[in-house]
Amino acid sequence: SNPPASNFLRTIIERDLAEGRYAGRLWAGRPGPASVQEQGAPDAARIRTRFPPEPNGYLHIGHAKSICLNFGLARDYGGTCHLRFDDTNPEKEEDEYVRAIADTVAWLGFDWHWQGQDNRYFASDYFEYLYQFAEALVQAGDAYVDEQSAEEIRANRGTLTEKGRNSPWRDRPVAESLARLREMRAGQHPDGSMALRARIDMASPNINLRDPVLYRIRHAPHHRTGDAWSIYPMYAWAHPVEDALEGITHSICTLEFEDQRPFYDWILGKLADLGQLRRPLPHQHEFARLNLSYVVTSKRKLLQLVREGHVQGWDDPRMPTLAGLRRRGYTPASIRLFCERLGVSKSDSRIDYSLLEQALRDDLDPRAKRAVAVLDPLKLVITNYPEGASELCHAPLNPHAPDAGTREFPFSRELWIERDDFREEPPKKYFRLFPGNTVRLKYGYIVKCTGCVKDEQGRVVEVHAEYLPDTKSGTPGADAVKVKGTITWVSAAHAVAAEVRLYDRLFSDPHPDGGDRDFLQALNPDSCHTVQAWLEPGTRAEPGATWQFERLGYFVADREESTPEKPVINRTATLRDSWA
Ligand code: ATP
Ligand code: MG
Ligand code: MG
Repeated sequence: SNPPASNFLRTIIERDLAEGRYAGRLWAGRPGPASVQEQGAPDAARIRTRFPPEPNGYLHIGHAKSICLNFGLARDYGGTCHLRFDDTNPEKEEDEYVRAIADTVAWLGFDWHWQGQDNRYFASDYFEYLYQFAEALVQAGDAYVDEQSAEEIRANRGTLTEKGRNSPWRDRPVAESLARLREMRAGQHPDGSMALRARIDMASPNINLRDPVLYRIRHAPHHRTGDAWSIYPMYAWAHPVEDALEGITHSICTLEFEDQRPFYDWILGKLADLGQLRRPLPHQHEFARLNLSYVVTSKRKLLQLVREGHVQGWDDPRMPTLAGLRRRGYTPASIRLFCERLGVSKSDSRIDYSLLEQALRDDLDPRAKRAVAVLDPLKLVITNYPEGASELCHAPLNPHAPDAGTREFPFSRELWIERDDFREEPPKKYFRLFPGNTVRLKYGYIVKCTGCVKDEQGRVVEVHAEYLPDTKSGTPGADAVKVKGTITWVSAAHAVAAEVRLYDRLFSDPHPDGGDRDFLQALNPDSCHTVQAWLEPGTRAEPGATWQFERLGYFVADREESTPEKPVINRTATLRDSWA
């Protein structure tokens, strides 16, 4: 395939490699502070990136951008990408999410193993290191225990236009802060009664540098460390340390963290000066997050959709989670292609959902098996074809891949066609079936419509036609009769019955979480429409099987509910853009 398009991150990495910025970095093969790292063997990874999800939900399409970026850069520059579970928020995290996240990263085609190392880590494995570093900061006068309430801390932090005010506890003796910190760790103080803060500058124009909180008290069990801790590190404190402990070189995050970068550098610089971390230190670089039209990607909102039953689960085919997209029929290659086309930039934008669908079409069109399906069936009777007789018709498995071979299926007297392919009174430019008109039955004969049968309500229940015997596709003279329309069909006696789920967008508003309105108000009440369809004989709906149903779009056999005996099929995408 083509070489990856350049972007600002590639430029930075190439510069860093050219300058030998991370050359000679020693790393023990397991994360740790300076003392542990120095015992290590020379590290041959030229760069280390990481994908650091919090295990508080399933991954969504926005995460795919970060995964493709981080794993892709590591692959392209002879490095490795760590999968790190950023599990510092005990109340929201669960093992189920840990498993689902790892499965999804692997499904997308990426691997955190590298030269015998299993680079899958948990922030909670570093809780003891973080704590020791905190004591070192207190001892150096760079952190203190503040006994103001959370509200007082917030109120005294100031605003963009107003400087913050020093806490009355800011200049307390080191020994006192140390004693309080140890009591905090020992669980002797209630939630919210005190916090450990970095001692930086309450007058800084950057609010993130106004003595940010490092540890808060939380008497809550953790999914991995149980009751061992009653203090948990704040994200801004834990994250740079996690990066440094793992020897990350390029720490890539979304733009909202740009204002955190000065603290990132401050904290790592302090710990390196104190001999706790080795240089060279990781650097943070920011890129624009993915915002997709018609989609919400906040995990909190996705969780709400699941908990309140607006969808069937995290992997509901309408969900923008990667598990949902997978069940919907999206392939890993289509998602990687989408992310590649997005590129990487430093300015926020909203991407049109049709780009994601187009990537799926571009991935599947050259390789998907073709089959015929009739979603809204109407009976077509070929009145001059003998009852009980049948003959085989042939069609390519994929017209773009002649080597893929052919498929065959029977033609007979009674067929299913799409209801929309017949009109008693044709509108202008309608070239399909209407009384007196001829059309080609794709891969079969040309037929001439002779009329229809209606029920008591006047609804058409059967269409009648006569076939022209010398016009079978693939036989000499098949083209002698010219027609303007071609329609698809399946033989009624041989077709496979299937439940087909026709999904539409989950939200009817292109900006479901914009404005002041509750995002649930934007839910599309008609996002799933189920039909009883007929499939080409021989179609085996093994879970996960995909097809292009001719004229209709891309479809997948549902991986949870489909069996060859009782097919359940999801429409992944139509053939043409329907999002404009
Ligand atoms: P949410 O706000 O929905 O909870 P998050 O960013 O907190 O999302 P994390 O699990 O912390 O979720 O995300 C892991 C990584 O994925 C982070 O590095 C984050 O920058 C990245 N990421 C999350 N959402 C997007 C997005 N929409 N586009 C690009 N990267 C994203
Ligand atoms: Mg996060
Ligand atoms: Mg979050």
